[in-house]
Amino acid sequence: MARLPQVQEDFQDDGLDRKRYEKEDKMKYPEAMQTIDTEKALTYLGFEPKINGSYLEFICPTCLNKASIRYHGEKKNVSYCQTCKAGSNIIALAVKIKVIEFQDAKNLLIEKATYTDKQIEEPLNLNYTLEWTDEMGKIGLNQELCQKLGVGKPKGKTMLSGSLVFTVYNDQGVKVAYWGLKDGKPKFHSSFNPENYLYNIHNCAPGEVHITKDMIDCLRIIHSGSPCLCNFGLPYISTKQYSLLNNFEKVVIHWTNDKRDVAFSCITQIRTFYRFV
Ligand SMILES: [Zn+2]
Repeated sequence: MARLPQVQEDFQDDGLDRKRYEKEDKMKYPEAMQTIDTEKALTYLGFEPKINGSYLEFICPTCLNKASIRYHGEKKNVSYCQTCKAGSNIIALAVKIKVIEFQDAKNLLIEKATYTDKQIEEPLNLNYTLEWTDEMGKIGLNQELCQKLGVGKPKGKTMLSGSLVFTVYNDQGVKVAYWGLKDGKPKFHSSFNPENYLYNIHNCAPGEVHITKDMIDCLRIIHSGSPCLCNFGLPYISTKQYSLLNNFEKVVIHWTNDKRDVAFSCITQIRTFYRFV
């Protein structure tokens, strides 16, 4: 699948519309941007989005050429048109299409295009041989645990060659993906949307559970004896991930050194007992 040009990693959202309307917000702008399901919102607005890697492609309403928008991660719901050389976002697109004000557009998308559970995933039809390496020991990982969880360096040539690879299961214990970490950056197949899963959930009983956004820390916490989940390094917890967390009695959040993180503004979505460490 063709890789989109690098310029799109630098999606910018000038936030002008946001500042103008922030006073009357019910749901804050960052929370809305995380909550709105990109594909559902585009479809609702009459676009026909197509997946290309971490992006959805759609027809730019200004120039009618191809534009793209991130559907998960840090720049979720931020779009860019190469022809117009302009960034936008899902709410501003709704403003344009529906000819309404920003606040109304935001509320409309929250109402019409938030996450709903999709069908149970097909089991992953791919088998990597994941091997233990000395490097893994050096970063404090435990060999026995890595073998048990399916963590290691893939043998042979694969898309994730050179990455530290984690086998991902859904909450029913079905293997759904491989998720890799290479030079500190996540790597995974475009068919996997990390927003829909929590790493290691199939091994966690409904009592107390820990959560971190660092996959390596997650393994360390599990090795220290506490059941632990990870959100695959996303800078927020998605709506689906919150709903999965609400199945646990207590949630212990390891979200250190990053008090400005947007996760803090949305953490009240956890309806169960929670605390920070
Ligand atoms: Zn355009």
